[in-house]
Amino acid sequence: MKVKGEKERDCKAIQSLIPAYLSGKLSLHEARIFTAHLKKCRDCREEIEISYLLDQGITRVENGETVDLHADLEEMLSDTENAILHLTQFRTAVYIVEFTAVFVLIACILILYVF
Ligand SMILES: [Zn+2]
Repeated sequence: MKVKGEKERDCKAIQSLIPAYLSGKLSLHEARIFTAHLKKCRDCREEIEISYLLDQGITRVENGETVDLHADLEEMLSDTENAILHLTQFRTAVYIVEFTAVFVLIACILILYVF
């Protein structure tokens, strides 16, 4: 369990990322920390809900849309988690391809020198 001051500092950092998250400007690394924190922190969860309502709610109401903003936010957060997962898998795949390419290259050089 974290001490109170430490948690508050984490929350401040996370809450300062909310505007960037809502406008899709977080890096992969930031988004990962952000969504992981929101999963376990009610305070920050409430903060993002309020921000999301203010940000999206007014525009939607002006457009005459009736939507479930709470469900929309949930969807946005799970989309982010999926995107992080896909990007992480993609990066792993790129590393494997790069590693294989380097390995093949070294093997070719060795074969050329040995034979
Ligand atoms: Zn928090």
